[in-house]
Amino acid sequence: VQLANQIAAGEVVERPSSVVKELLENAVDAKATKIVCDLKNSGKTLIRVRDNGQGIPHEELPLALAPHATSKIATLEDLEAILTLGFRGEALASIAAVSKLTLTSRTKDEDHAFSVEVEGPQQDPEINPAAHPVGTSVEVCELFFNTPARRRFLRSDRTEFMHIREIFVRTALANPDIDFELNLDGKNVVNVKAVMGDEKKRLVRLSKLAGSDFNRNGIFVRGEDPCLNVSGVLLPPPDVEESAVENIFLFLNGRPIADKVLTHALKQAYSEVAGRSCPVRCVLYLNCDPHEVDINVHPRKDEVRFHEARLVHDVLLETVANSLRKELR
Ligand code: ADP
Ligand code: MG
Repeated sequence: VQLANQIAAGEVVERPSSVVKELLENAVDAKATKIVCDLKNSGKTLIRVRDNGQGIPHEELPLALAPHATSKIATLEDLEAILTLGFRGEALASIAAVSKLTLTSRTKDEDHAFSVEVEGPQQDPEINPAAHPVGTSVEVCELFFNTPARRRFLRSDRTEFMHIREIFVRTALANPDIDFELNLDGKNVVNVKAVMGDEKKRLVRLSKLAGSDFNRNGIFVRGEDPCLNVSGVLLPPPDVEESAVENIFLFLNGRPIADKVLTHALKQAYSEVAGRSCPVRCVLYLNCDPHEVDINVHPRKDEVRFHEARLVHDVLLETVANSLRKELR
């Protein structure tokens, strides 16, 4: 309980995309090599995430739905250098509290699956045998069925789907070694396979997710400063007439992030090279010593705080500016 109190609790479930984000993170944490997400009505009626990860032993199924039950942190020290994506142990419980949720799972040691079903906040769900390959499926039906105020806050199917697509694409970009599939009302929307090594194949996969421009005009960037390792693809500053939209995908130590310091460095690099302010378009993978960054700043977990923010800013600025200059020379 003390540990739980030390971890910033937050509103996890704001809209369908927040559910998708948590379920995808759990599937990644479970070492899945394939993750499929099915939606009905942009997730308002159904969100189902299936993975082929390690699964949950049947005796732990009820625990997975209990608040503050995480299998991912053992000690407080772990908090300092956290590497797994989920760590608050509250996502599934929060989602279950506002939906009709079925959790089905099977480990490699079990010869069939088990499943639990809950409707709203509820203790002691029944565990039933079920059919499912090794891995886990979470089915979230009728999100906010018992919280009409939240349900009324939901936007159009189009808007909610945009949010989900965004989260899905970021997760798929962050995990190039996993197959990802997204289906909306029975129609396939995203389908990318894992890629290893091959730079060309990586670029094709990346452009399927981030936009075909990256395959046509992408500039590879690589920087190996001891404080920040940078790799990824940049699009050159657009022609003045071209109306390009800013498109920044940033990953730190494998996790999607949004960070003002880094975004500022990118904008400055682009405007220094172009001689005017212009939209940044990039997919960048950053790596640093996990002890040099706090990721627990915000409960939504995509904000970070660098201990040496100035240094990190300048390294990113120089790395990106140099790659752009080299290409444009
Ligand atoms: P957290 O991810 O922060 O631990 P969650 O509420 O998201 O908390 O999940 C609770 C627990 O359920 C996890 O710690 C994990 O043990 C288990 N779990 C959830 N989803 C999966 C999954 N897809 N595969 C395997 N285990 C899972
Ligand atoms: Mg989680």
